[in-house]
Amino acid sequence: MTIALVPTMGALHEGHLDLVRRAQELADDVVVSIFVNPTQFGANEDFDKYPRTLEADRAMLEPFGATVFAPSVDEVYPEGFDLFASIRSWASTQPTTTFEGATRPEHFEGVLTVVCRLFEMVQPDVVVFGQKDAQQVFLIGKLIEQAFPQIRLEVVPTNREPDGLARSSRNRYLSAEERTHALVLSRALINMSLRLMSATSTGEAIAEARASVEAEPEVRLDYLDIVDPHDFTPVNEQFRGPATAVVAAWVGSTRLIDTINLVIN
Ligand code: AMP
Repeated sequence: MTIALVPTMGALHEGHLDLVRRAQELADDVVVSIFVNPTQFGANEDFDKYPRTLEADRAMLEPFGATVFAPSVDEVYPEGFDLFASIRSWASTQPTTTFEGATRPEHFEGVLTVVCRLFEMVQPDVVVFGQKDAQQVFLIGKLIEQAFPQIRLEVVPTNREPDGLARSSRNRYLSAEERTHALVLSRALINMSLRLMSATSTGEAIAEARASVEAEPEVRLDYLDIVDPHDFTPVNEQFRGPATAVVAAWVGSTRLIDTINLVIN
C-alpha cells in the first residue's frame, strides 16, 4: 500500500481538493493533514484568527474517502522536541530569508519543521503541494532531495477563481471591494508574462508590474519579482528561459501571495 500525504492548514477550498485529486492518482491511500501550525506564524500575524473549519473540511473530504489527520499541537511538538535546531541550521543554507522570509522571519523554519514532523508521523511515499506557495515548494523540494530521497514530491498548479484570483483560505477575510482590488495581483503577473514573450527588458517589465500593483487603492505591495527556479534568486537582465514570477501584497489588512511560471525570451 502506498500513501500520499496532502499537508494543509484546513479551511479547505477547491485548490486543496485539486491536491487531493492528484494524490488519489498517485497512491493507494490519501492522508490529508489539517494542522494550523503555530511555529510558522509570527507574533503579529493571524494565527489566532486563522479560519478553523474542521467539520466543514471533513465534509468536503468525505466524497474522496481520504483519511483526515488533524493532530494536536502537543502531538506534533511533544515535550523535549528538538527538531528546530537542525532545521534552523539547514534552513540557513537555503533561500529562507528573502521574499516571504524577509517579511515573515522564521516562517520557513516553522514550515520546514512541521513538514519534517508530518513526514515522520505519516511516512508518505508521495507528498502533494501547491505551486501557489512557490518559495515554500522550492524549499520543500530541496528538503526532500537532501533528507527524504524516498519521497516523491508532486506539485499542483494554482487553482483560481474564474476572474483569476488565486484561491486561498485567506480570501474569506476580503470585503467585496477588497476582493476586486485583489485582482490586480494576478493581472500584474499575467501582463508581465505576456510582455516578456516579446523582446522587452525584464527590468522594465518588472517595474511596470510593480507600478500597476502600487496604483491600486487599498493594496500595499510587499514584493514583486522574477526568480530563477533553480535557486530562487532574482533573475538579471541577461536571464533567458523558464522563470517564476512571485508577488505578495496586503489588500486591506489581508496578506495575499500569487505566482506564475513564465518564460523570458
Ligand atoms: P494551506 O492550507 O494554505 O497551507 O495550503 C495547503 C496546500 O494547498 C499547500 O501545498 C498550498 O500550496 C496548496 N494550495 C493553497 N492554495 C492553493 C490553490 N489555490 N491552488 C492549488 N494549491 C493550493
